[in-house]
Amino acid sequence: MRVTKYLLSTLKETPSEAEAISHKLMLRSGMIRQLASGLYTWLPTGLRVLRKVEKIVREEMNHIGAIEILMPIMQPSVLWKETGRYNEFGSELLKISDRHNRSFVLGPTHEEIITDIVRNNIKSYKQLPLNLYQIQTKFRDEIRPRFGVIRAREFTMKDAYSFHLNKKSLNKTYETIHQTYCRIFNRIGLRFLSVEADTGSIGGDKSHEFHALTDIGEDLISFSSNSNYTSNIEKASAFSPILRMPNATKKMELVNIENINTIEELAKQHKLSIESFVKIIFVKASNHVDSSIIGLLIKATHELNKTKVEKLTEIAFPLQMATEKEIYQLIGAHPTSSGPVNLKLPFIVDRSVASMSNFHAGANIDGKYYFYINWHRDVKLPKVRDLRNVVENDPSPCGQGKVIIKRGIEVGHIFQLGHKYSKSMNAYLLGSDSKKHIIEMGCYGIGCSRVVSAIIEQNNDKYGIIWPAAIAPFQVAIIPINMRVFTRVKIEAEKLYIALTSINIDVLFDDRLDRIGIMLSDIELIGIPHIILISDDGIKEGKFEYKNRKLGKKIIISMDTIIEHIKTQIFTDKKTKLILLRL
Ligand code: ATP
Ligand code: MG
Repeated sequence: MRVTKYLLSTLKETPSEAEAISHKLMLRSGMIRQLASGLYTWLPTGLRVLRKVEKIVREEMNHIGAIEILMPIMQPSVLWKETGRYNEFGSELLKISDRHNRSFVLGPTHEEIITDIVRNNIKSYKQLPLNLYQIQTKFRDEIRPRFGVIRAREFTMKDAYSFHLNKKSLNKTYETIHQTYCRIFNRIGLRFLSVEADTGSIGGDKSHEFHALTDIGEDLISFSSNSNYTSNIEKASAFSPILRMPNATKKMELVNIENINTIEELAKQHKLSIESFVKIIFVKASNHVDSSIIGLLIKATHELNKTKVEKLTEIAFPLQMATEKEIYQLIGAHPTSSGPVNLKLPFIVDRSVASMSNFHAGANIDGKYYFYINWHRDVKLPKVRDLRNVVENDPSPCGQGKVIIKRGIEVGHIFQLGHKYSKSMNAYLLGSDSKKHIIEMGCYGIGCSRVVSAIIEQNNDKYGIIWPAAIAPFQVAIIPINMRVFTRVKIEAEKLYIALTSINIDVLFDDRLDRIGIMLSDIELIGIPHIILISDDGIKEGKFEYKNRKLGKKIIISMDTIIEHIKTQIFTDKKTKLILLRL
């Protein structure tokens, strides 16, 4: 590719709207442009990388016998109503109508559509197991699109769905997909790990997520200090503290807290540990409870775990916070003064709070707190559940060591769905026993567009992106110096360009007649792994200059051996070999 015939679109300045390094670099290197919040155009350099990621994904899926299909983005609502997700999925599901006033959604995922296809087209157990996949645009009306294509509203996903007669067959495919995902991420050059995960709104029995560890990751991953255990903290169990509840040592006291705004201030003023305070979070109750609102009591220093709470039958799904006004009407005080003693609402207590004594909470009277509350003596202990996120140094859920927490970007997610969709959509087949069997299902996603950003988060320096070989937009850049003046430079650059492209190497030939500094900084920003600089002085001595983007080193190479040198650089990397040779 010649730069003069290409759309390079690099930017000198860092766009102010971008927070994440990958977002900044994707804008600066001309990979993407924002159209509206969470909607991006992929410019040619970005698209080249995205297509290479998709190509690796496609090759590996085909390799395990998965069959590619393509389903529409626009999906009839009636299928979503069959599974109940039309209402359950929440506001991320974009609902639209056509000119005949028929109701549709823009597909955030495709379980309903694929189950409909399979129930209409598969009749016998002999046709299973079956693994179907697509690489397709998804739409989710994210509340807060951010970090460029890491959390976009429109993004590219590889989604696969497998169908089985029994659990054993589902387990086998699940394992194969797990291994395939490891191969895919390894080939792409991503540093990743697979962690136990919750099945979330997709539902089902067993699930793993694949995460790229980076500081901007929106997911928290818990590790054990003493074992290989890893889990998304959405799923990691928080145990009750091992210590038994100490005895009540002090009488409960009613304290004035007027003019104090936070629990931190209150603790400081009374020289109490913040660890001894609790708080109530009020949420909408389900119709299993005799109240519209229910309280969730956790330690002041802990965070509520939405995933765990949503699974409780007492809580309305999806989780919805009660408003301050609703709370005030029911308890007669503002939520900042709420607590378990004399609370006129049902509440559930977190395991850690259940084992506390002499703790402090609001008195359900505005401006008043109770200090030194004790269970049983001052208030009856209601239902106890695991309501919170684990924190560093908690006992690890695996039973060995302590919890360590790191941030990850979720790049892939696999689920054993079991009968979740096949049952509600009546997808069954006839087994060898001539009886009807509900189909076992699995589903498996990779966020192809998010993977591109995750790679950049892990591979960059002050000059720009450093692509892993397999997905670099171009393998080699040719930069002629002062081609306008020196005809020899132009001739040699053209010759080299033709020679390299004829052996299937992706080359970007910077034929812009610009200053060397401008050309080199663009090429380094884009992150092309191998750079060849051609100068008149060099040619006189029969030499080119070669710079490796990752190592930053420049070396002088004879013009006669440059092609061999580039070939060795590229093709010694096995991962690159696979993708380049088949381009
Ligand atoms: P998240 O928790 O990040 O919102 P999710 O768990 O809802 O993601 P899945 O339904 O598991 O996502 O989708 C499969 C994959 O699609 C994810 O692992 C991720 O790589 C990608 N993905 C999901 N949402 C987005 C998004 N808004 N933008 C880009 N990629 C996304
Ligand atoms: Mg997920």
